[in-house]
Amino acid sequence: MTIFSSPAFEGHESLHAFHDARAGLSCLIAIHSTALGPASGGVRMWPYPNDQAAIDDALRLSRAMSYKNAMAGIAFGGGKTVVIGDSRTAKTPALFEALGRAVESLGGRYWGAEDVGVSPADLADARRATRYMAGLEGHPAASGDPSPVTAEGVRRGIALCARRRLGKPLSELTVAIQGVGHVGGLLADRLAADGARLVVCDLNPDIAAAVAARTGAKVVSTDAIFDAEADVFAPCALGGAISAATLPRLKAKVVAGGANNQLESAEIGRAVFEAGLLYAPDFVINGGGIINVAAEIGALQRGEPYDPAWVEAKVAAMIDTLETVLDRSQAERRPADEIAVRMAKERIAAAR
Ligand code: NAD
Repeated sequence: MTIFSSPAFEGHESLHAFHDARAGLSCLIAIHSTALGPASGGVRMWPYPNDQAAIDDALRLSRAMSYKNAMAGIAFGGGKTVVIGDSRTAKTPALFEALGRAVESLGGRYWGAEDVGVSPADLADARRATRYMAGLEGHPAASGDPSPVTAEGVRRGIALCARRRLGKPLSELTVAIQGVGHVGGLLADRLAADGARLVVCDLNPDIAAAVAARTGAKVVSTDAIFDAEADVFAPCALGGAISAATLPRLKAKVVAGGANNQLESAEIGRAVFEAGLLYAPDFVINGGGIINVAAEIGALQRGEPYDPAWVEAKVAAMIDTLETVLDRSQAERRPADEIAVRMAKERIAAAR
């Protein structure tokens, strides 16, 4: 097992391993940076095949949170927790309370929130042992489901990209949405209200059918979505939608969606750029959710209620940042994702 010499560790401040045999907890908390403020990032529960896989994931995800938080213009660094275990069988209140003690022991250098495999009820168990857990329910500071804010940021990002690349308003667009769960489904509702035509798919046919019934979207298979006649391709499922196999099939001139890790690799980011597609870097356009969580953390710290006006101002600023990324990408003739990573690193370095 390697840590310090691993490329994944590069730039990290710390990696913490916690074990509580009685509670059944084995978890890692990676803190990439606290330059802009305390690290924040979700708690993921996943049955990693071995410790190295868990370490690599924690480090990869905490760095990504640093970049996302920096580009969202919130006073938070990047961190991530991975709990090793199967969320369908291994969850107990005692496990999450032990996680809360682990988070508390870091003295506020890291704030946790919801991620894959973890529910608000689990976070409530952790919260019994720590002040540093957001994603509460039934509290004046609670921010609720982040998906509507994420979807609204993506909608505005699509509007910006389509105006720049195609000179079209939302009402004249056809948007292909891959995955219509929380974010993709809300995005579909909003775009339909804007007058856009939609082509959607989902691994779960019932979800796709429900969205089609609400929005008039055409439903296609999860494979055919890559061939859809559309102006915009919006990945809103899991990572890796844009790959060497799928890029040549896309008819859309804009790729902009809510999913994390949309590009299979940095090389494919360059290929997207060279093919003349306008790509909205995922960690810039989908920052609405973390902005919403930051609103809750700020409210908890100040002992005030959740402030929707603060969230709106930050989402508007996030779209301005996306525009700056696209301007620089155009001026420097470099892929937008490269520009966005560089800007995030600059923002973090400037705060050090
Ligand atoms: P979700 O689980 O509610 O929705 C994802 C949907 O994608 C599901 O309905 C699933 O059936 C479908 N899906 C999975 N693989 C698919 C495939 N190959 N083809 C078609 N459909 C597929 O999740 P979500 O909260 O909507 O998040 C979607 C994406 O956005 C994820 O990548 C997530 O990390 C990212 N994200 C979400 C938020 C948020 O606020 N929820 C914020 C930032 C980023």
